[in-house]
Amino acid sequence: MAGFDYDLFVIGGGSGGVRAARIAAGEHGARVGLAEESRMGGTCVIRGCVPKKLMVFASAVPDALVLGRDYGWTIPAARFDWPTFRARLDSELARLEAAYRGGLESAGVTIHDARATLADPHTVRLATGETFTAKHVLIATGGRPSLPAGLGAPVLTSNEIFLLDRLPETALVVGGGFIACEFAQILAGLGVRVTQFYRGEQILRGFDDDARAIVADAIRKSGIELLTGTDVAALVQEGASTRVTRTDGQEARFDAVIYATGRIPNSGGLGLEALGIALGPRGEVLVDGWSQTAVPSIFAVGDVTDRINLTPVAIREGHAFADTVFGARPHRADHDLVASAVFTRPELGAVGLTEAEASARGPVEIYQTAFRPMKTAFAGHPDRVMMKLVVDAGSRVVLGCHIVAPEAGEMIQLAAIAVKMGATKEDFDRTCAVHPTMAEELVTMRKVTRAHGVVAKG
Ligand code: NDP
Repeated sequence: MAGFDYDLFVIGGGSGGVRAARIAAGEHGARVGLAEESRMGGTCVIRGCVPKKLMVFASAVPDALVLGRDYGWTIPAARFDWPTFRARLDSELARLEAAYRGGLESAGVTIHDARATLADPHTVRLATGETFTAKHVLIATGGRPSLPAGLGAPVLTSNEIFLLDRLPETALVVGGGFIACEFAQILAGLGVRVTQFYRGEQILRGFDDDARAIVADAIRKSGIELLTGTDVAALVQEGASTRVTRTDGQEARFDAVIYATGRIPNSGGLGLEALGIALGPRGEVLVDGWSQTAVPSIFAVGDVTDRINLTPVAIREGHAFADTVFGARPHRADHDLVASAVFTRPELGAVGLTEAEASARGPVEIYQTAFRPMKTAFAGHPDRVMMKLVVDAGSRVVLGCHIVAPEAGEMIQLAAIAVKMGATKEDFDRTCAVHPTMAEELVTMRKVTRAHGVVAKG
């Protein structure tokens, strides 16, 4: 591919871009350049999944201490020190960032620490003034928090939470999605008095209704004031706090207001429109199943394409792109039956269709159980877990699996293998239980809890 500076130029050093660059260079011998304007690792590593999960671990400690006491341990009063945690978090993120950088360098990728834009279908211009030509360009610029227009006062987003010097005493979290629910519970676990507003009827729209209800209940039981059907009408900064007027007219003051009202693709200012690359209504770069844009030399993967905005999906898309274009091994990222987990307490793990989605498509049987798990029931805690299988009444294939339980993220990863393989309810049934566990309930549900659209026999 002589004539070009690079075979591939990747814009964005997050999950999707880094995977594509490493595979193209390290496995397929391509000459690869990668530009990143911020820290290497992107949202997942620097301001998303990784620091979030570490905060989830920190915030779960008080529950473990209470449980310890109920199991007979004498535990002195505990206190959380945010600066100690922050310092450890910062050094862990620095370690991961260095590992990402090292991985790229050892694969032979040339890193450019600068913002890049497209000058033409084969030319990238860096903020340093340098330009590079490439046979192919991959846009992997991710997304960013989106805020409603016209907020009357400064607010925080998930980007800033990891950078706080100290934790607020009171916080309002606005939104009812992944990020809002996770951060409301993280902050509450760390001792912040949290209120959460969600504009709709029930949080976690898109997840199974029973699972949503149980998580909402758990959020309230963890001490969070969760108000549904409620939004912000006005925000006014007053000294160090913010006065918030609710849509029902009531007012309250908070030390911090955190908006988790969705994310939008980072597609602006890259020069895409001028090249004839169409953007969708949310600013997403439009691509085909091969992650190729309307300009044949330009591809895009990850959150900037707004398909399924999850790290492992971006990684798959980046890998498939690199294998296809540089490895003579064409394959597409598979977006079907992608499992996900919301890291609330308890967690929500889901794969496949919800009960409502499946029953709108055809006859289904629901197998569902809710129970008090042994670990906390022993200590007299009221916590409940829920497992649900959504089964096609004709083929018996398990169309969906929904779990609300501690470690549901770990469980759903394994259940997702069976669901992805097309397992039937009978395949689950003939799998012997692992006892005593919570997950054994997935293979021991004998009776149909509900049926939709199924004509009774006889
Ligand atoms: P989501 O799209 O999941 O949720 C956004 C929430 O904000 C919804 O409850 C939405 O309400 C509400 N909202 C949107 N606009 C407004 C508005 N103008 N005023 C008030 N409320 C509003 O986005 P998140 O920011 O939580 O997360 C973004 C994405 O990041 C997720 O979809 C997911 O793909 C990914 N992610 C995954 C995680 C994981 O895997 N554990 C963790 C964190 C993020 P409504 O429902 O009414 O639209």
